[in-house]
Amino acid sequence: MSTLYSQLPAIDRLLRTPALQALNEQYGQSFLTRILRDMQQEARDTIRQQHCLPSWHNDWAQEAAARLARHHRSALRPVFNLTGTVLHTNLGRALLAERAIGAVSQTARQAVTLEYALDEAERGHRDRALANLLCELTGAEDACIVNNNAAAVLLMLAALAPGKEVIVSRGELVEIGGAFRIPDVMLQAGCQLREVGTTNRTHLKDYRAAVNEQTALLMKVHTSNYQVQGFTKAVGEAELAALGAELGLPVITDLGSGSLIDLSQYGLPAEPMPQRLIASGVSLVSFSGDKLLGGPQAGIIVGKKALIDRLQQHPLKRALRVDKLTLAALEATLQLYRQPDRLRAELPTLRLLTRDREEILQQAQRLLPPLQAAWGEAFTLEIAPCSSQIGSGSLPVDRLPSYAITFADKAGRGSGLEALAQRWRQLEIPVIGRLQEGRLWLDLRCLENEPLFLRTLTS
Ligand SMILES: *Cc1c(COP(=O)(O)O)cnc(C)c1O
Repeated sequence: MSTLYSQLPAIDRLLRTPALQALNEQYGQSFLTRILRDMQQEARDTIRQQHCLPSWHNDWAQEAAARLARHHRSALRPVFNLTGTVLHTNLGRALLAERAIGAVSQTARQAVTLEYALDEAERGHRDRALANLLCELTGAEDACIVNNNAAAVLLMLAALAPGKEVIVSRGELVEIGGAFRIPDVMLQAGCQLREVGTTNRTHLKDYRAAVNEQTALLMKVHTSNYQVQGFTKAVGEAELAALGAELGLPVITDLGSGSLIDLSQYGLPAEPMPQRLIASGVSLVSFSGDKLLGGPQAGIIVGKKALIDRLQQHPLKRALRVDKLTLAALEATLQLYRQPDRLRAELPTLRLLTRDREEILQQAQRLLPPLQAAWGEAFTLEIAPCSSQIGSGSLPVDRLPSYAITFADKAGRGSGLEALAQRWRQLEIPVIGRLQEGRLWLDLRCLENEPLFLRTLTS
């Protein structure tokens, strides 16, 4: 054993070799030395436990280079999202438009007028520029922007109903993934939830009967991630807004996704539009920046100026405000909506959601032969119709027709597919599919960089 120990190189000597000098240049001496010490310790452990040298003993430089590269890899790895879910929360939801990406990098590089009004040379308000744009697009009087839609709901409740009651239908006490539940948010915001109606049916008279001197708000929550079907009744926003106006109570709506354009024009299922709710008299509407809007993570609140002023002045707004990079990305994204005819070409979310089924099929037919050549020995590959989904809680019922390349294990073992999925997760650019019905599905709807994908899966 001592002869094995004596074969371990000294770190000083290693550091003087040309290969490690190069690594030293690239990564710096302290980090390189740390890696080499770890390797040396590992080698000693191997000798002690297994009476041999580690497998990489013949090339310490190459092993160190591989370890350094792994350590320097970002934790936010780019992946191929072939799950079939376009707005995949765990994979970062919306991809930004090129113009939004450009706006972010420009804003990151230079000082900007974030809270500085050039004409008055005094401190402005960081949501001002975007509020004007949002008012133009939605017809609202004013707007407020926070970190995400969950924060938007929290802020609306905390600022407008502290210690008071908020009336919500029992059919709308939703849970969104990630522990966002309307009753819990109410509690955190310091207000009292007043449930009305039943799970399947709520009437206007239920809201009216629940109003008392403690009532601060009437609230609607868009049931974005489920649908109640059958014997149902819900009170529409316009009707509730009229009741609110009659009783002098603001009506707020958590819209979840919300879309600034009518999606049915593209053959997609219609989603409620913030501008329509504003027109129907709702006082405040909140929605996400990175769902159907196709922008950065943000919570957008639009509506009556007097109420928005109260949100802007609340201490929570300071804690929930967004940074300049988010504002830059959001502004550039919103500007695209001024030219709706170009939106489909410029906004990745809309481009992916509206991809033509025939085009996806042709892509599958192009990809099948090379993939077959690379994987056909152990797996049976097929082109199969499938359904993509929008994701992020929107439109769960309606699905988008798409095509997948599916992989089935020729040996008929489910574990073979698990191993395949695992192997693809370890690739330089991981490929993420969906295991279903004894097959591994690669839904091609979100595959745009075809050459890179082929290189990744066939080399
Ligand atoms: C998605 C969603 C939220 C949470 O929005 P985030 O931007 O993810 O914080 C809240 N309410 C509804 C109805 C939603 O669909």
